[in-house]
Amino acid sequence: MSLLELSGVSVHYGRIEAVSDITITVEEGEIVTLIGANGAGKTTTMRAISGIRPLSAGRISFAGEDITKLRADLRVVRGISQAPEGRGIFPGMSVAENLDMGAYTRKDRKELRGDIERVFELFPRLAERRTQVGGTLSGGEQQMLAIGRALMARPKLLLLDEPSMGLAPQIIQQIFRIITEINEQGTTVLLVEQNAQQALSRAHRAYVLETGHVVKSGTGAELLTDESVKESYLGVA
Ligand code: ATP
Repeated sequence: MSLLELSGVSVHYGRIEAVSDITITVEEGEIVTLIGANGAGKTTTMRAISGIRPLSAGRISFAGEDITKLRADLRVVRGISQAPEGRGIFPGMSVAENLDMGAYTRKDRKELRGDIERVFELFPRLAERRTQVGGTLSGGEQQMLAIGRALMARPKLLLLDEPSMGLAPQIIQQIFRIITEINEQGTTVLLVEQNAQQALSRAHRAYVLETGHVVKSGTGAELLTDESVKESYLGVA
């Protein structure tokens, strides 16, 4: 049994089919990445998994349960947590308050302090800025906070939408290193990325999306050496 299974999933915005009949699996312990050009349907796929967009066809199961019609907040309780594209932190709240908000679905409040400390170990820059308001953090720090906040829900599956977007190369390296570390500590990761080079080198497996369809899949290593992937997504002919 896979941790996450999308079978024949389609998603529409009105009459536009953004995602067409895709089948994707994520096994426990993996980093899986979805790569594709602008508008390929990557974000829409993530929204379908987190429950923000309804499916027009297909089904989604998580840890053996059908969650196709489950409310988004209840998916968080089951163990799916997303750091959304564009970061979506609370700009007027401090770093520590933002992290607290990430744990709002949890009942085991007394373990929160330890979990916040774990986030601060992963992201020492956030520890130094725990009282600073989110809106005044740099882009890279906001991305770290978004990931940290998602981790506060203690997810089984962490969904990351374009964590490298708009960041300097050095920060991108750092974010990807931390994603690997989070995975090694036991969290399964589904990662959407335009930075295909980094994403494929970190991922166990990957799917290529083109105009809403899965056109290719394989291990990260296989896709890194695939001629058409190299040409379209890695900037080398
Ligand atoms: P990007 O990397 O640019 O975010 P993406 O692969 O994440 O691209 P999506 O955002 O999932 O792509 O978009 C897939 C398709 O659905 C696009 O054609 C887009 O224009 C369309 N789409 C996305 N959101 C909406 C919306 N709210 N209303 C109408 N169409 C939408």
